[in-house]
Amino acid sequence: MKIPMPPGAVYDKEALLAGVDLIGRTGARQFEVGYLHEGVPSEEAGWYAQARWSGTRLIAENHTDPVEAVEALAARVLTGGQCQHCRGVTSLTEERPDPRGRYMADGTVWTTKEQQAAPLCQWTRQGPRWVRGCERPASPTAAPEGR
Ligand SMILES: [Zn+2]
Repeated sequence: MKIPMPPGAVYDKEALLAGVDLIGRTGARQFEVGYLHEGVPSEEAGWYAQARWSGTRLIAENHTDPVEAVEALAARVLTGGQCQHCRGVTSLTEERPDPRGRYMADGTVWTTKEQQAAPLCQWTRQGPRWVRGCERPASPTAAPEGR
């Protein structure tokens, strides 16, 4: 996918890569980054990022640059979504997002009750990649000291 970066823009390439990679991993059928207004300074162009799955669509609008829009979209995807690995509720913080019925990417509904019963899976961005909570190895136990 080609992202229309403003000329001369200084941006966080890893954040952009992480966002694009994440959206790809969710199985989105369409992913688009763009802006609404021509002939204005880039930060006033109204950047947006949107992704479409078969059953639903998410958009992050009114951002000052494309990376911010992609990051905001990633945050929306990762807040209250369902981890495809542990089936937990995804979050960017240790807080459990408000459970609410949610349309999943395949068009089915994940009910509030099911969400409440699911474990929490906290995602963090590590450089160019979003890493799921259930993927990170447990912190290594201290190696026993030599005698
Ligand atoms: Zn998980």
